[in-house]
Amino acid sequence: MNAADASALPVGVSPPPPPTSPIYLDNGGTTALDPEVHAGLCARLALPLGNPNAAHEAGRAAREMLETARGDLAVLLGGKPEEIVFTSGGTESITLALLGCTPVRTGRVAVSAVEHSATRTAALALTEQGMALDVVPVTPTGLVTPEALTATLRPDTRIVSLMLAQNEIGTISDLASLIPLVRRLAPKARIVVDAVQGFTKVPVRLAALGADCVAITAHKLHGPIGIGALWTRLPLTPLFKGGGQERGQRGGTQPAVLAWALVEAARRAVADVDASRRMAALRDRLVEEVGHHLPGVTLTGEPPGPTRLPNNAHFCIPGLPSEPLINALAAAGVAASAGAACSTGKARISPTLQALGRRAEEGAFVRLTVGRFTTEACVVEGAARLAACVEPLRRAYAGR
Ligand code: PLP
Repeated sequence: MNAADASALPVGVSPPPPPTSPIYLDNGGTTALDPEVHAGLCARLALPLGNPNAAHEAGRAAREMLETARGDLAVLLGGKPEEIVFTSGGTESITLALLGCTPVRTGRVAVSAVEHSATRTAALALTEQGMALDVVPVTPTGLVTPEALTATLRPDTRIVSLMLAQNEIGTISDLASLIPLVRRLAPKARIVVDAVQGFTKVPVRLAALGADCVAITAHKLHGPIGIGALWTRLPLTPLFKGGGQERGQRGGTQPAVLAWALVEAARRAVADVDASRRMAALRDRLVEEVGHHLPGVTLTGEPPGPTRLPNNAHFCIPGLPSEPLINALAAAGVAASAGAACSTGKARISPTLQALGRRAEEGAFVRLTVGRFTTEACVVEGAARLAACVEPLRRAYAGR
């Protein structure tokens, strides 16, 4: 209702409060489209593009867009165009890597205890096909250590899956040390890296990590949902063969425009050389504001610095459970994530937090993640609204 409408209200009736402006602090969940990528997408969607596998002019134009994107992504990753398979996103890339990287279904698959559900479920699928599963434990801050790998891997380990950066708590793995160790401990193992959260935020050349397969997605870096890629030098068994697209490794007509958008979003994220510093400064301001409003709140995971994603804050807030807090935040216009899921109506702690040895009784766990376009006003207001949500819930849950 605008001011003119308000003047039409009966005397004594106040106008409704203005709608709460949204505060988006769930960039670990997904990110808003980079405006330049949005404009480029719209322009390209209007072009007369055909099926990139067709011989005619419209097909040739789409093929050129697709192959240019592949070449540009190869440069960003430090690999070769023929090492890139376009997919629908991180989940598909990880599943293709785990299920497609070795035709052998004997021996063992090892995954870290804090892998994303995409990896966990793909590893479980391998156990249904005859492989044994080993889980590599992590430290209380989510790090895989050389000791844990040494204790877990065996000479018959055939697949090892690790993360570049953890999605809930933002812990960055020391893959430069861990991957050579995996090669020594399990020489027959294919190494899969989930770089979905880390790509463009962790300054590494993914193809030079020494892994066999690296999975990325566009929507964590201000690109569109629905496009990702897998980098690999291995021949892959496709999850679906279709018409043999992507050199027989992933069937289905390729979305050339989305491939362009993935690469443009990644290129712009990498070119924004100040982005990590800006995001870390915003995250640090957020931590400071939350600490100011809510003494006793602790940060989960590694301290801010080189072993933590610059955009990630994950808090443990004593005195209330997670789920009502996330709901209250949503009602207050703050997009946040719990790091805990709800199963059959009963609040439970996420597998990641369980792996860190955390317990639901400790309080509410909430992840707040900034992006390249987040403003300082947004983090300051987000922290204030968080505090305003916490206080009444604490009173409601006191003594329960
Ligand atoms: N891996 C990690 C670490 C993630 O954070 C996500 C998404 O949340 C995925 C994999 C899955 O990626 P996508 O949403 O593109 O399927």
